[in-house]
Amino acid sequence: MLNIVIFGAPGSGKGTQSDKIIEHYKLFHISTGDVLRDNIRRGTELGKTAKGYIDQGQLVPDELIIDILAQVLDENKVNAREGVIFDGFPRTIPQAEALEQLLADRGTKIDAVVGLEVPEEELIKRILLRGQMSGRADDNEETARKRLEVYHNQTSPLKAYYEQQGKYRAINGLGSIDGIFESISETLDSL
Ligand code: AMP
Repeated sequence: MLNIVIFGAPGSGKGTQSDKIIEHYKLFHISTGDVLRDNIRRGTELGKTAKGYIDQGQLVPDELIIDILAQVLDENKVNAREGVIFDGFPRTIPQAEALEQLLADRGTKIDAVVGLEVPEEELIKRILLRGQMSGRADDNEETARKRLEVYHNQTSPLKAYYEQQGKYRAINGLGSIDGIFESISETLDSL
């Protein structure tokens, strides 16, 4: 049983490494970005609200995203028996506090936060490349820079928050996909 958060700036490789972690450790994947994009595709009310924020490179408001997370946890009956990887959540301190409470209510907790650390210039390069390949609407230069700014202001304080709890594990996010995964699995296996 392992609950982890995969943490890092946009473009740090969270999605790519999540796929490998899920396959290896058989964890249940919760990506709030995927949930929002799915709602946008289906044209739901939530999708319409979220699109405005996502296109601007802004975060969706905490109350909204926390409600969505609680719903995903309940719909999937995520509880103490199943390990989960949280990808793209939490992104603010209030979200981290809410996550702690939501998991405590379900008799479980976060075991580790895997932080993918990648230099800024490389992040922009990767985001733009992903935009060319996937056509993700928020992967253009202007939005990418905004998202990085939002990351620095609102999300990066979570590193110190989880360090204080002794849960943060820094991973060098530069190198080959398999090499980075190897560092992650060494870390997770040593927990
Ligand atoms: P991602 O796929 O994780 O990069 O998320 C894409 C976009 O969805 C972000 O730039 C935000 O606008 C929104 N989003 C995803 N997760 C969250 C979250 N935990 N809090 C606020 N906004 C989020």
